[in-house]
Amino acid sequence: MKLNKEEFKEAIRARLKRHYGKDLEEANKHDIYDAVSTVVMDHVQTNWMATRKMYGKNQVKQMYYMSAEFLMGRAMSNNLVNFGIKEGVTEVLKELNFDYTSIEDEEPDAGLGNGGLGRLAACFLDSLATLDYPGHGYGIRYQYGMFEQHIENGYQVEYPDNWLKHRDPWEIKRSDLAVKVLFGGTAVAETGEDGNLRYKVIGAEEITAVPYDVPVVGFDTPSVNRLRLWEAISENGFDLQLFNDMQYMRAVERQNNAENISRVLYPNDSGPSGKTLRLKQQYFFTSASLQDLVAKFKRDHGTDFSKFPDYNVIQLNDTHPVVAIPEMMRLLMDENDMGWEEAWDVVTRTFAYTNHTILAEALEKWPIDIFEGLLPRIYQIVEEINRRFMTELREKFPGNWEKQNRMSIIGDGMIRMAWLAIVACFSVNGVAALHTEILKTVELVDWVEIYPEKFNNKTNGVTQRRWLLCANPKLAEFITNKIGPGWEKDLVQLRKLEKFADDPKVLDEFMEIKHQNKVALAAYLKETQNVIIDPDSIFDVQIKRLHEYKRQLMNILHIMYMYNRILEDPSYDPVPRTFIFGAKAASGYRRAKSIIKLINTVADRVNNDHRVKDRIKIVFAENYRVSLAEKLFPASDVSEQISTAGKEASGTGNMKFMMNGAVTIGTMDGANVEIVEEVGAENAFIFGLTADEIQKIDAAHSYNPQEYLEKNPKLAAVLNQLVDGTYNSGALSLFRELYDSLVFGVEGQRPDVYYILADFDSYVEAQEKLAKAYSDKRAWAKMAFLNVAASGKFSSDRTIEDYVSGIWHLKKIVVEP
Ligand SMILES: *Cc1c(COP(=O)(O)O)cnc(C)c1O
Repeated sequence: MKLNKEEFKEAIRARLKRHYGKDLEEANKHDIYDAVSTVVMDHVQTNWMATRKMYGKNQVKQMYYMSAEFLMGRAMSNNLVNFGIKEGVTEVLKELNFDYTSIEDEEPDAGLGNGGLGRLAACFLDSLATLDYPGHGYGIRYQYGMFEQHIENGYQVEYPDNWLKHRDPWEIKRSDLAVKVLFGGTAVAETGEDGNLRYKVIGAEEITAVPYDVPVVGFDTPSVNRLRLWEAISENGFDLQLFNDMQYMRAVERQNNAENISRVLYPNDSGPSGKTLRLKQQYFFTSASLQDLVAKFKRDHGTDFSKFPDYNVIQLNDTHPVVAIPEMMRLLMDENDMGWEEAWDVVTRTFAYTNHTILAEALEKWPIDIFEGLLPRIYQIVEEINRRFMTELREKFPGNWEKQNRMSIIGDGMIRMAWLAIVACFSVNGVAALHTEILKTVELVDWVEIYPEKFNNKTNGVTQRRWLLCANPKLAEFITNKIGPGWEKDLVQLRKLEKFADDPKVLDEFMEIKHQNKVALAAYLKETQNVIIDPDSIFDVQIKRLHEYKRQLMNILHIMYMYNRILEDPSYDPVPRTFIFGAKAASGYRRAKSIIKLINTVADRVNNDHRVKDRIKIVFAENYRVSLAEKLFPASDVSEQISTAGKEASGTGNMKFMMNGAVTIGTMDGANVEIVEEVGAENAFIFGLTADEIQKIDAAHSYNPQEYLEKNPKLAAVLNQLVDGTYNSGALSLFRELYDSLVFGVEGQRPDVYYILADFDSYVEAQEKLAKAYSDKRAWAKMAFLNVAASGKFSSDRTIEDYVSGIWHLKKIVVEP
């Protein structure tokens, strides 16, 4: 798009007058944010309509990414960059006496996700639009997204994320496309005019699903795809009878209950929720989305649903949307007169499933009574899917009851959503090579045996538009200066940087950019949290959800270990380091919250101990989210990717770090394995047990953490400080629980479930190697630089191309502007 500055200014003035009755002098920063976004949205609309027409005209196959989470972050800067008018708009604002960054900071994050899984969905949408593929998102318009985290007295405190407090200029409400979703009631059979048996649900609660469309703007292309998010409203929930009886509160209460469905995102990442409302959310948005797709199919192609998979492919992001499978059966059979076999044929050619985790607690299961009460007809269909599947299994494995029970979709009073997905989907993929390998050889071996053709790997990726071009404009410009443009849509071109890896001038320039980013982050943290950090120290960063398997606890124990050594050993003079943490803990995850308190308690002690002479600084960056991540990755020297091997399915934070020139210290887990493959083991710091080794120890039940405490008295001393009053802050019992979990095991768990003590020595060793490497400035610069050059594989563009060729089989549709 070409920007006409005077027209743009005039449009902003008109918008301010029309919407706020203000002129430029009276407008505040938020007014300006809203006006700029609205004016840009006008231009987006033109391309959006053209894209839709183009897809319609060509009657192409389209992909729908169903996900309970889309962690989009902010839209304005991304859309301006993808549109190619960010610089122009920055100049316009300057001429109007507004600073672009301060306007940008007015936009709340669309935090409609927990972490990696939701952010992956957002990166995928960006790549689909940029690569001109017809691929769209379907999800929930949560009124409250991921909670806002404050740290108070060292503890995490959660506040509601009221991101829609002002209107969202990037969404369009489509009341005309509302559909009804039913809950509860009774499934009854009736004989149709054709003599066939049909089911309908009577006495159900009726919820209205209203879609809001958000444009997904491709980079340097007119393509604009769609993210459609559903809001729950209740039309008959406002009980007029109750109202007339002057029971106003009760009348409204019913409405509130119905509308609670899209009220709030569950803040659990890879953990159990097990709540009825969560199942309601899942059925709500998948049913609405499928009704939307079925209606569109009928408009475009009539009622021959055998052709449905020629025009539609649906990717299920984890098990959260898997209830779509029986819902599609219901729509085809009960509402479109199809028989079971025909409907099943359509379903099994339409759906594909992505597995995101092997953590047992994250495999979704719903108690039958809850499921059946909420979705009586859907439950019947799940039972029938399972009955037919079990018949097949009995023929394949006669007499092998154990296997049959293991694989039954319904068992132990629960519905196993992952099993339902594997049976019905034509593709099941893991998200990194190691993860897929573990799925195939351990977690899902039974399934690979009967459906070998379904299993495949799609290593995750991240979009370089947001994570490099937008977040780190200085590095982006540097790259373009060295290798020319083109990498923005073809990231493997970064390999062309390698020829500069020994050019001292280029490396100096590269490190100067890192330094400027560190200065900017330091200024931001001073302003927002009033902490002072030294941009000349190593910025060693661990930012991700707080989870035991991610081992933030090992990181802070190592810092305590360094601190002790500084106090005890006068000859020990480590390279100054700033350890930065950012992490939200699920509100009900007590141990994760204790770890946050521990990090803050240690920070308080170490940061204020003059004997440390600022060789260690610890910062807990509050409220980690996409917009904060955009400030942290560009300023990082060290990327902490230290999960217990075999537990992190992929990780995507690791990729954002690499792209921005941080060096990984990590285990051979998830996509770290592939990062090392790309950059070379000499350009990363790898430590710890491998997934294989851990599997063997697990199988032999031979782990004894006590052994490691005896071998390393300094580690034992660090652990003792958790309980001996060293970090006395009224939180001793919290730290006692952490201590017990490592040393004795609590609540029936064995001690140190995540092998922190087993990996500790090798972590310390890797840290020391890293510190030494950092002292050689030139060698470090080269290493960081080579990480950027080798990061091409981790573009979500590559991931999307893999999905397109292996699963979706879409054609590129180039939109005429
Ligand atoms: C990328 C990202 C994540 C995922 O980080 P991992 O280290 O892969 O767990 C989580 N949250 C935000 C805000 C992100 O941008």
